[in-house]
Amino acid sequence: TNQFSQPLSQVANLSSTIQQTIASAERIFEVLDAPEMDERILKDEPLSGHDQPKIEFKDVQFSYNDEPLIQDFNLKAPTNHMVAIVGPTGAGKSTIINLLERFYDVKGGHIYLDGHDTRTMTHSQLRTHIAMVLQDTWLFKGTIFDNIKYGREDATEEEVYQAARLAYADSFIRELPDGYQTVLDESASNISQGQRQLLTIARAFLANPEILILDEATSSVDTRTESLIQNAMNDIQQNRTSFVVAHRLSTIRNAEQIIVMNHGRIIETGNHQTLMAKQGFYADLYNSQFLGNQI
Ligand code: ADP
Repeated sequence: TNQFSQPLSQVANLSSTIQQTIASAERIFEVLDAPEMDERILKDEPLSGHDQPKIEFKDVQFSYNDEPLIQDFNLKAPTNHMVAIVGPTGAGKSTIINLLERFYDVKGGHIYLDGHDTRTMTHSQLRTHIAMVLQDTWLFKGTIFDNIKYGREDATEEEVYQAARLAYADSFIRELPDGYQTVLDESASNISQGQRQLLTIARAFLANPEILILDEATSSVDTRTESLIQNAMNDIQQNRTSFVVAHRLSTIRNAEQIIVMNHGRIIETGNHQTLMAKQGFYADLYNSQFLGNQI
């Protein structure tokens, strides 16, 4: 195309030219961003049927090095269900999340989103479906306003404030001397960890994704902020499919499905009641560690 050679005096056409340019730029990025695909994946046809899960892990295998880590991992997450992943440190919980977001690709098996193999999707396509919250390392040096707006760049000012209100973040932000224009420093250490987590929830409210990944930080947060985070987390999960790397009792009890992992494998699944009744690994874990409120 010759969009860039058009004279600037064509003001009437400028707006549509800009739109076309943005559209072509987006296409370029899609191509640059395209995943490497082999024939096998390209031929992959979406599954059909009304009971198709929102996310499915099918026979997933993965290792970071030569040593097998994730093995025979199968999971179906129906639309709007909450799936909690629990297990001891090193069990592979974060790895499952990394695979879901395609920070790494599976070495065997498939991960499907609405029946489409996620390896046929670009990272930017995936990001329109999946948002990660509570990972405060994702905040950047810039104003609080811009950090929330990053959730959806075309959001209006009012939508940014509304997202902050939904995440119970608006009141602490307004109490800061510079309010929404407060500049977060490199690691956002000028606000508390709990406040950083509320900002990530605000960003996710703005992004309004179908699928949420909640990975709680384990370090302590003051009681008041903690209850705000709990409420915000509870609210944002409504009418969405969510994956929670669980550290807290209250979170686990509400999950439709609890995946108990050890050494890279699923060793038990069920909800809180059925797993407690089983008196297996989960019940032991619960009785020994969960009673202290943290896994
Ligand atoms: P969890 O989240 O349950 O604590 P992880 O998924 O973080 O477990 O880790 C599972 C195993 O994989 C651990 O033995 C860990 O040391 C290893 N591991 C995690 N990330 C990497 C990595 N980037 N490179 C190599 N090994 C890793």
